[in-house]
Amino acid sequence: MGRKEDNIKKATEVMHILPQIRNLCIAAHIDHGKTTLSDNLIAGAGMMSEDLAGKSRVLDFDDQESARGITINAASASMVHEVDGTDYLINLIDTPGHVDFGGDVTRAMRAVDGCFILACAVEGPMPQTETVVRQALKEKVKPVLFINKVDRLINELQVTPEDMMERFKETITKVNKLIRQFAPDEFRKEWQVSVADGTVAFGSAYHNWGITVPYMAKSGISFKDIFEHCHNEEQKDLARKAPVHEVLLDMAVSKLPGPVEAQPYRIPNIWTGDLDSEIGKSMVNCDPEAELAMMITKIWMDPHAGEVAVGRIYSGSINQGESVFAIGAAKPERVQQVSMMVGGDRITVPKVVAGNIAALTGIRSAAAGVTLSRNNDFIPFEAIRHYSDPVVTVAVEPKSMKDLPKFIDALRSLAKSDASLQVTTNQETGEALLAGMGELHLEITVYRLEEEQNIKVKVSPPIVVYRESIESNNHGRSFEGKSPNRHNRFMMEVEPMSTEVVEALRDGHFGNGTIRSGDSKEVGRKFGEFGMDKDLMRKIYAISGTNVLVNDTKGIQGLHETRELIIESFNEVCKKGPMADEPVMGMMVRLVDAKLHEDAIHRGPAQTIPAVRNAIKGAMLRARTVLMEPMQRSHVSVPNDWLGQVTREITNRRGIIEDMPSEGEATTVIGTLPVAETFGFSNDIRAASQGRAIWNSENTGFEVLPPQLFDKVVGEIRTRKGLKPEPNPESYYSD
Ligand code: GDP
Repeated sequence: MGRKEDNIKKATEVMHILPQIRNLCIAAHIDHGKTTLSDNLIAGAGMMSEDLAGKSRVLDFDDQESARGITINAASASMVHEVDGTDYLINLIDTPGHVDFGGDVTRAMRAVDGCFILACAVEGPMPQTETVVRQALKEKVKPVLFINKVDRLINELQVTPEDMMERFKETITKVNKLIRQFAPDEFRKEWQVSVADGTVAFGSAYHNWGITVPYMAKSGISFKDIFEHCHNEEQKDLARKAPVHEVLLDMAVSKLPGPVEAQPYRIPNIWTGDLDSEIGKSMVNCDPEAELAMMITKIWMDPHAGEVAVGRIYSGSINQGESVFAIGAAKPERVQQVSMMVGGDRITVPKVVAGNIAALTGIRSAAAGVTLSRNNDFIPFEAIRHYSDPVVTVAVEPKSMKDLPKFIDALRSLAKSDASLQVTTNQETGEALLAGMGELHLEITVYRLEEEQNIKVKVSPPIVVYRESIESNNHGRSFEGKSPNRHNRFMMEVEPMSTEVVEALRDGHFGNGTIRSGDSKEVGRKFGEFGMDKDLMRKIYAISGTNVLVNDTKGIQGLHETRELIIESFNEVCKKGPMADEPVMGMMVRLVDAKLHEDAIHRGPAQTIPAVRNAIKGAMLRARTVLMEPMQRSHVSVPNDWLGQVTREITNRRGIIEDMPSEGEATTVIGTLPVAETFGFSNDIRAASQGRAIWNSENTGFEVLPPQLFDKVVGEIRTRKGLKPEPNPESYYSD
């Protein structure tokens, strides 16, 4: 039996020994070496040829992805690692390295209990490191730190040993600050990383070596040795004495929790059901003999088997051939195959048990974030919140109408496998709107349609999705909306909410959708913590995205029966605002007065909905609507000779340069620019620097569109959508 086959056999055995399992992922900024390290770990564990490690990419399934150097799929790979004669099963989940796919990162975190924070020794933690670490900590995933590319520090930047130690210290301090800020209260101290504790490793994923204090003790290697080995070009020797996979997997086994240790504190964080119930207890205890509870974290397209659902089992086991519910689906579905992902291979097994990661085929209703159970009443795991909203749209349609059914089917799968993608299809015309995190995100989506599904499509140029909001309020000047029969009137006032409240709403802090009256007191209290009037907020009706609706009236006959209709109209306006039919953000709507017809027949949906809709839209226009545009922060790293060209590209695009740290021969330009100006940025930057610039970017929220552009942009959107040229508040009076 070859080493690989031997390891596959061991993996399927160790899966049943819970204390010997570790589920983990690597959290990193793009280009810091996550793919190189993943491949290295897998090769080191004997799952692929060692020559290829660091040069080929096991976890990057897509060619597209390799070509761009961006990991798109959060696939998983299991491997076996031996410590002191005991075999451990390490399930490594790959997280996407690009912020455009933030949603995927969070879901990958849900499947793991520990993570390696990987930071480049030269650059240190970057904004994206911070985003990913924050997501890990929010999911109560314990971190350890790996400082990569130490060889570059020594050989390229030629730092002194003292400088090197100083830089390490800086990186560790930054990471610990993040942990202090974002770790769950009970772990803020305990999860701090330190060199002495062996929770910090240093090394070079590319040159296959790594080191920690415990490994120094074991091998007799010192920092001085490392410095000298790199200096004297003896890294191969170092890789033999301290192979990076040994060092890091040792660290994972001894410093990161297994499922038995982690599930007691992770389950209450992701599941709202009763922890004292039978299933609650079995999840907390990670009981493989109990009822099944599994959460799907990723759908990927296997070229042979089609849709494969990958997820974490928290309780019980999943068996080939059994029927399970994807909670929310109408009927149970049969599990065709159960597999473990070993390296790049999917190995089918009869079953996978609690505490592990399993890959399934046959469950068509599974989607990322969905809970699987044998019992349709099971309370699903809490929905995963996104940090980013879609900001760019393209329209796509198949070139040939005969591809239409296949096209619609493929889009359905894409939407399921990528939660940061919103798909709206028109079944008759075949046109679909894809809304995503950026131009690149949508380019990759279209590529997948064309290459993987073999459908040729027509694609429109990208369009920015703006947000409508208000600048001021219309207090004391409430806007009255009348029903078509004029027997019902609603008076509305609107006001903007603070940035802190809007952020908390985005994170789902107060919930979303209609608020049940039993919950409103608690919701009011939570708003009170943010400095809002808790007595007012107790009267909340609903939350839609980052907007809230409050009923600030007293004793109005019949209002209770129209509550649902009022909420429906509010939701409608939040999706399409009065200026340009764009989504609304950051607004509080207050119903201040209403006059209703005493007979319920005369205040049905056809009367109430337009009246409320007009009242909110009119109030918004009175409170001065503004258009918010999505912004992106870009980091462009460029040799100093091309610096001028790069800064010009940014400032020409209404960009603002925030910082320009330089490092030897290169400078990183950090700037913020509107997403509307980023189309084609990547080509222009490449041309301006003769291909020498490396760049990446992240969405950073919304800013008010400069007033001088307002009329032009609103006009363009309204024309594109076939709306009347100008919104007019008076038109919202129904008479
Ligand atoms: P990812 O975007 O985080 O997955 O990063 P990759 O693994 O693709 O690495 C980005 C680049 O850095 C590649 O060119 C790697 O060869 C290089 N790289 C990764 N690790 C090291 C390292 O330890 N030392 C050096 N010198 N280069 C590295």
